Amino acid sequence: MSQTQEATETTQSQRDAVTDADVTLIVGLEVHVQLDTQSKLFCNCSTAYGADANTQTCPVCTGMPGTLPVINEQALKLAIKTGLALNCEIANYTKWDRKNYFYPDLPKGYQISQFDKPICGAGHLTIADPKGAFETRAIQIERAHLEEDAGKSIHDESGAKKPTKIDLNRTGTPLLEIVTKPDLRSAEEAKAFLTELKLILTYIGVSDCNMQEGSLRCDGNVNLHINVDGQKVATPIVEIKNLNSFRAAERAIGYEAERQLRVWKKDGLGIGEAPKQTRGWDVANQKTTPSREKEGAADYRYFPDPDLIAVVTTDQEIAAIGATIAHLPSALRTDLMENYGLEAYDTEVIVSQGAGVVAYYESVADFLTKSASGSKSPGKTASNWVAQEVLRYLNEQSCEVGDYPVSGEQLGELLVRISKGDFDQTRGKDVLAQMVENALDLDAAIEKLGIKAVDANEIQSLCQQLIDENPAVIEQIREGKGKAIGSLIGKARKLNPNINPNVVKENLLKQIGI
Ligand code: ZN
Ligand code: MN
Repeated sequence: MSQTQEATETTQSQRDAVTDADVTLIVGLEVHVQLDTQSKLFCNCSTAYGADANTQTCPVCTGMPGTLPVINEQALKLAIKTGLALNCEIANYTKWDRKNYFYPDLPKGYQISQFDKPICGAGHLTIADPKGAFETRAIQIERAHLEEDAGKSIHDESGAKKPTKIDLNRTGTPLLEIVTKPDLRSAEEAKAFLTELKLILTYIGVSDCNMQEGSLRCDGNVNLHINVDGQKVATPIVEIKNLNSFRAAERAIGYEAERQLRVWKKDGLGIGEAPKQTRGWDVANQKTTPSREKEGAADYRYFPDPDLIAVVTTDQEIAAIGATIAHLPSALRTDLMENYGLEAYDTEVIVSQGAGVVAYYESVADFLTKSASGSKSPGKTASNWVAQEVLRYLNEQSCEVGDYPVSGEQLGELLVRISKGDFDQTRGKDVLAQMVENALDLDAAIEKLGIKAVDANEIQSLCQQLIDENPAVIEQIREGKGKAIGSLIGKARKLNPNINPNVVKENLLKQIGI
């Protein structure tokens, strides 16, 4: 964002009169995504996480003189794939630049990055909120460029003031830095952007997006536009570094919005009148705190890397990479809503779990739909069962849908039996539990539970017994207290767990004479 904007003088009383309605939050994000390659961006060292310190290094990534970097083609392909999924223009010509700065975990003294010819140009990502807290909007992406990661400084936190150690395993790991325009207008929108971005990256398989392991790191540029008597005043931009969870990003941006307004109301300093600040998120105290001052781009003295040639990618090559994108979450959302009549919220529950769960859901819903079981809304029934039963199990066991012991068709068949009235939902859950816990197929589970059809005579005599034994409840029902019948259903279930509550209810009302 430009800092040349003219500062606007304001008086204390003008500032005091500003309310929340006069304030617009302006947020842009920079997201560093670790691309899922076997080896580093310019050498053959492994990128596997968790190895002993400095065991995954070589003369290239430790910056020994006389070594030459070689581009990892897989990283380039994953970057292009990501760019395509984010609707970016892909550059046919891209080059490498050195970003010069000194830091102990950067042995070369420069980072190989892309300055003026990034691999991915302008694009956009659409965010939506199924709960309706903000409007569906396309957030513009300015660019996405490839660069190498730095190493890690391991500071002594014991208080013994031991020297800082350096681990260079991560040095040279391929990162794609995705930069948005300052398009986000609330902390919730920023979180939604990150959530959707992560979902897309996971769907197309370019990154594991593991935030604990640093595979997805986020910085936010935050300031306020304030309407003072019809004039726009901007507060100095603050960069919040290393937001390492979506929750941290949301909280830090929300905190910064409040802090900037508070400070501006006191000192009235606008953009250009106070230095640009870099702040960090203090999780323990839930506030941002100042860190080192931000360097302007000029301080890095970018220049083209003389050791690397430019990369030329043809349109055919780009198209071939695009063809490897199987599913995007946005397309699957449309599919689920159109093909199964799901509402936005239920759709999100399924789609947010990844392509595997979507496929599982579809097999359940398809089975139920094709069986002509009479289920009124097979799509909704299937989503209820997948969301409540299947996802709960996957959560509890922390496993993937591929590990779920019951296939989509089997679950579909179970739902068919329920909608045909063989047994009710509650019994159905018992059946599913048998199938999951004892690896039984549907019929074996039904047999094990002793579920069998209850014939009409049995139902009739059971209802008569309930009527004879519960005169007070019957009286309430006659008086129009419809809910009273619930207690009789409970009793009926105890007498015979195989009864279908709806059938019992129908019969009871008939026999009472209502
Ligand atoms: Zn190396
Ligand atoms: Mn970067």
